[in-house]
Amino acid sequence: MKVIAVLNQKGGSGKTTIATHLARALQLDGLDVLLVDSDPQGSARDWAAVREDQPLTVVGIDRATIDRDVKNVARKVDYVVIDGAPQAADLAVSAIKAADFILIPVQPSPYDIWATSDLVDLVKQRIELTDGKLQAAFVVSRAIKGTRIGSEVAEALEGYELPILDARITQRVSYPGTAAAGITVMDAEPEGDAAAEIRALTAEIVQKLI
Ligand code: ADP
Ligand code: MG
Repeated sequence: MKVIAVLNQKGGSGKTTIATHLARALQLDGLDVLLVDSDPQGSARDWAAVREDQPLTVVGIDRATIDRDVKNVARKVDYVVIDGAPQAADLAVSAIKAADFILIPVQPSPYDIWATSDLVDLVKQRIELTDGKLQAAFVVSRAIKGTRIGSEVAEALEGYELPILDARITQRVSYPGTAAAGITVMDAEPEGDAAAEIRALTAEIVQKLI
């Protein structure tokens, strides 16, 4: 079992969008996946509940015992994806402890990058404690299509000394559009560009976890 935690204390960075899509993409690859909603607001649970024949199992664990609970709940699955909570340091710490891979979605703006510094500190401490077994990376989220990420933004991210994934998630109406139906962009348009960028993100993470 591998645990991927999608974390960023900042709301609106795309955690729930990415966590639901990552979980569904892994499932469509034939893997057994559990999506853990650690946000007390329950966005991932709300999303899942919209679709009557929801293929994904979503459980809410919004206590600071995620690391222990995940071990108990998820022994039989291939992947656990944790959708992170905003502004709850104790929840973030327990999600970090549970994780094999931490994905930090960040919008390409200096304010959003600066806002990740506390999380990055926690993640780096944990990487040291696990002798590098824990991996972490940024993914640029909600990037405007056809624009390049400014060099200042890239430099600000590089200053944190965590890798930045090659895959990038673009701002697209299909993300909120499909969310409203409890599905994903892969369900709506499997051959579309949005599905392709989600598959690229998923493949890049899976490759790092081998
Ligand atoms: P978080 O879980 O970090 O708070 P969400 O995934 O809920 O972030 O995203 C916040 C809002 O932005 C939601 O309304 C969501 O539909 C929208 N959103 C997130 N990612 C994208 C994207 N790539 N393109 C368009 N809208 C997005
Ligand atoms: Mg969310």
